[in-house]
Amino acid sequence: RKGTAVITGASSGLGLATAKALAETGKWHVIMACRDFLKASRAAKAAGMDKGSYTIVHLDLASLDSVRQFVKNARQLEMPIDVVVCNAAVYQPTAKEPSYTADGFEMSVGVNHLGHYLLARELLTDLQASDYPSKRLIIVGSITGNTNTLAGNVPPKANLGDLRGLAGGLNGVGSSVMIDGGEFDGAKAYKDSKVCNMLTMQEFHRRYHEETGVTFASLYPGCIATTGLFREHIPLFRLLFPPFQKYITKGYVSEEEAGKRLAQVVSDPSLTKSGVYWSWNKNSASFENQLSEEASDADKAKKLWEISEKLVGLA
Ligand code: NDP
Repeated sequence: RKGTAVITGASSGLGLATAKALAETGKWHVIMACRDFLKASRAAKAAGMDKGSYTIVHLDLASLDSVRQFVKNARQLEMPIDVVVCNAAVYQPTAKEPSYTADGFEMSVGVNHLGHYLLARELLTDLQASDYPSKRLIIVGSITGNTNTLAGNVPPKANLGDLRGLAGGLNGVGSSVMIDGGEFDGAKAYKDSKVCNMLTMQEFHRRYHEETGVTFASLYPGCIATTGLFREHIPLFRLLFPPFQKYITKGYVSEEEAGKRLAQVVSDPSLTKSGVYWSWNKNSASFENQLSEEASDADKAKKLWEISEKLVGLA
């Protein structure tokens, strides 16, 4: 039978390119988990995806109720869920003030980490129930959260500190809106959220890989300088960033190529190892990359897991 993959944020950029790459193989049905139904449907059509190769299901990661409703709706499709890709993200580098999810969490960490954390916890049950030979849960990471790289050392650097802001609810009322308890910084909040994504993947691996056989993975697909992720950046940045990445850092990767990379992590029979953070070299060959000290800190991962579990109402 065909495999079924849930991809969050499949309405643009990497998520859409991955959905298209998987659908084109004829071996996958994609559940596009998107907050804007019409946008997703237009995007799938414009990408030339075959009508029968995907189903769009509403998901707004900025609302825990919406995440729970998505899980119900996805189950009603009566399709097995074989792979889950947590890909959606918001990036607000120029925001002066924080914005908040429906549950009152700072938006970047609320959407990129907490929404996905609840989704992944819920869908783990479905992955376990699937009889697909290689079940996978993938959380898209990023180099920018990795302070062992050049890109990860561009200030403001990711730093979760002792997680006091997150423990306080990340709401700016009784606590800070930043995980480490500091002042709001949109670019840092994004990087912090990506560290959370990578820590969460490893904690899933430690807690559930042996018991469930599910492969847990993260990846850095390369710098896809053309996606909507940079839509909130200043115009000059948006103009110069793609050529800068292409010719100076040489980290540039097209949306199509990045989509193929993520599609490999979904389906390639050689990428079944769990607990890995995948990257690609200049020849587009995948390799197991090293995470920064903070992004591979097992104590921090455990603490993050326990606080997140409380914030999303699972504990
Ligand atoms: P895009 O902005 O193109 O895509 C982000 C997607 O997330 C969109 O489909 C967007 O939906 C969706 N999204 C945003 N907020 C929500 C929400 N509240 N609920 C549901 N969906 C939401 O960016 P990219 O494709 O670049 O980003 C995809 C992933 O790749 C992210 O995890 C990012 O961190 C990662 N990444 C990107 C890199 C890059 O260079 N671009 C590098 C490394 C990692 P909508 O279409 O409705 O806006």
